[in-house]
Amino acid sequence: MAKKKGGSFKIKFMMIVTYLCAGLIPLFLFSAVVFKATENYFVEEKKKELLNQANILAGHITISGYLTEKNKEYQFRSDISLTSEQGGFRIVVTDDMGIVLEDSNGTDVGKTLIVPEIVEALNTKDVAREQENGDIYAVTSIVAENGSRIGTVLIVYAPDDIQNIANGIKKPIYFMMVIIAGIVITFVLVLSRNITGPLGKLMEVIQNISEGHFEQRMPVDEFSNNEIMQVGAAVNNMAEKLEEVETSRQHFVSNVSHELKTPLSSIKVLSESILLDNDAQKETYIEFLRDINSEVDRMTEIINDLLTLVKLDQKELPGSFKQESLNSVIEEIMKRLRPLADNKDIDFEYTAVKEVNAEIDRTKLTLAISNLVENGIKYTDNGGKVKVVLDCDHQNAFITVSDTGIGMAEEELGKIFDRFYRIDKTRNRETGGTGLGLSITHSTVLMHNGSIKVTSRENEGTTFLVRIPLIHSV
Ligand code: ADP
Repeated sequence: MAKKKGGSFKIKFMMIVTYLCAGLIPLFLFSAVVFKATENYFVEEKKKELLNQANILAGHITISGYLTEKNKEYQFRSDISLTSEQGGFRIVVTDDMGIVLEDSNGTDVGKTLIVPEIVEALNTKDVAREQENGDIYAVTSIVAENGSRIGTVLIVYAPDDIQNIANGIKKPIYFMMVIIAGIVITFVLVLSRNITGPLGKLMEVIQNISEGHFEQRMPVDEFSNNEIMQVGAAVNNMAEKLEEVETSRQHFVSNVSHELKTPLSSIKVLSESILLDNDAQKETYIEFLRDINSEVDRMTEIINDLLTLVKLDQKELPGSFKQESLNSVIEEIMKRLRPLADNKDIDFEYTAVKEVNAEIDRTKLTLAISNLVENGIKYTDNGGKVKVVLDCDHQNAFITVSDTGIGMAEEELGKIFDRFYRIDKTRNRETGGTGLGLSITHSTVLMHNGSIKVTSRENEGTTFLVRIPLIHSV
């Protein structure tokens, strides 16, 4: 259970992270670009404005003769400090050597200011530039009436208002991001409940199936035909198959027990009755022992058939497939079974349309075809006919075994290949079948990658058609 919770939490977590990334990263990038562009715009505008103010101030300094007339010093100072206060920036005035003549902060008067912008303004042109710390320097030269550059006006501006404007934009964007994150998380929680809920159920069903509860099924909702429902349907399918296998295994075990119990009970009854009969004659002993012997034979026959089937079921054991003449295989069978057919006065016929060579496991296929021919003789009344035909095309050999015997009802045909299945048990006890012959034939044909078909009519006869590929491909 702990595992299950962990699993669904992981999916939920992954979905939240994915959707958050998908929702927030583009928004974040977009807002970053917008911030930068807005900031740049404001900085550029501010630069122009500051340069303009520096220019006006420089012009005012030239016209009023602050730098040339000593007695105007007081006026000069108060003008600078007023402009600085009104503009919210620092004003530094230097001479043509960069020595500070006036500083609205009052800190650098008399010092030499080596600022690239001042050098540039003195030598080439006025300039406004953003500094590394974000301050903006706007410098214009003070030009004397004769045209020579006699100093500079430097405005140092700390752009707090730009930050404020940017923050003004940032706030609603951050707010939007929080709202989007909230929506994404709610959406994922609802969505993941729809996914992890069925997944949890699916895992529970699989767990129960693996513990042997094959009757467990996943409730599959036809209307939401998503992948989970498809997996659910596949699991249900698998459970059905497992249930079938389990049922057939139980049937098989109970059939085996039953089939072996019958001769065992006979042996028990026979041996007990002979043990209790003190005056039994030798002939009686012999007769009883003969009966016991035939019951033992029957048990041996059943066990041998079962062993053959078990071997056929072990598919990993490779059969010994060799190129063989099917004609010779069938001739051998016909020769061995002819006395049986003769006993019942049965017309026993074999036609080989062609010479057929195929890759087969000779021993196993001989047993499989023998079973069919033997059944033909067994279930055909005296004087009837059993016919075997061998033919082939480019890919397959075809062996047909037909008889004019008692035949089978349509509804029996699907069951006769089942283990221990016999149509009329009492009748067949006399004919001595185990009910395993056709299962062996069926498994052998499948092992050869072939197929077997049966057609039959009651009281008219039966035909088995076996197809075996000429080349055995694994
Ligand atoms: P069995 O050992 O009883 O013959 P099989 O597996 O060979 O077992 O056959 C299963 C049942 O199919 C038989 O009991 C019989 O009722 C029926 N069957 C098989 N072959 C024929 C046939 N040629 N004609 C009529 N019935 C047949």
